Amino acid sequence: MSVDQHFTTTPKHVRYRGRFAPSPTGPLHFGSLVTALGSYLEARRQQGEWLLRMEDIDPPREQAGAADAILRALEAYHLNWDGAVLYQSLHYEAYETALTQLIESHHSFVCSCSRKTIAVNGNGHIYPGTCRNGLAPGGTPRTVRVRVPSEYETFTDALQGQVTSNLQTDVGDFIVHRADGLYAYHLAVVVDDAQQGITDIVRGTDLLGSTLPQRYLQRCLGYSHPQYSHLPLAVNQHGQKLSKQNFAAAIDTRHPGPTLSKALAFLGHPPPAELQGAGPALLLSWATTHWGMQNVPHTASICVGSEGK
Ligand code: GLU
Repeated sequence: MSVDQHFTTTPKHVRYRGRFAPSPTGPLHFGSLVTALGSYLEARRQQGEWLLRMEDIDPPREQAGAADAILRALEAYHLNWDGAVLYQSLHYEAYETALTQLIESHHSFVCSCSRKTIAVNGNGHIYPGTCRNGLAPGGTPRTVRVRVPSEYETFTDALQGQVTSNLQTDVGDFIVHRADGLYAYHLAVVVDDAQQGITDIVRGTDLLGSTLPQRYLQRCLGYSHPQYSHLPLAVNQHGQKLSKQNFAAAIDTRHPGPTLSKALAFLGHPPPAELQGAGPALLLSWATTHWGMQNVPHTASICVGSEGK
């Protein structure tokens, strides 16, 4: 690029745009509150926008009423989002277009393997490449996978540091269209982050590894890469992520102050003594002024003891 071009094509200032993207598999629990709070505070601190996306593309895993319960809980905690909520269940056309793009650009292939055949042919975790050059004779198409090259994908996470993996040996050809006809999480999340113009993703370390295939997908689809910050994950005394499966309790929406204070402390920002007993509006206004990602613990997880029960 010539010097002249450099000065004439100075990019417009890209505003910070973050998001919280819960899956409605159950009500908001302490772990998901931490993610919502961290992404909210970073967006507000950067004077950016904070969007909300309901990731309801996996009906078998969803719980009736959970999407609304999550929205009501965020409101009770004064975590007010910008614009309308994007429901992934209403966005299938965008995923279909992206899938067609992947197929037409030969970034993907049709696969007939089941979990069982993958376990037999490989190590059970990484797809052994069975159908990358065509279906086995007599094989029926089940899924669509992205063909990953034997290259390293590397990025620097603001909290977790450098992450690097070989796409073929550590990630493997991953599914973008499932055997049950549903679009896979990796595809939907990447398409929506790009369409919503998300510049920064703040989420839990349970998704740190997912960032590698997601970044590869961004390359295949010609999207730019957002910045990533993976917050420490709240785990129970057994080291498990708080979730519906291990009976994480729904957060108290009637008295949000104490839980919000705990979530702030978890993220390295314990509110001062004079805010003891304060409600969410005061706590959030203090936290927005004092927030700094550098003060969030740079660890993968933090045990919150029996919080999960
Ligand atoms: N919907 C995903 C979850 O609840 C999060 C997606 C993301 O933040 O990228 O685990």
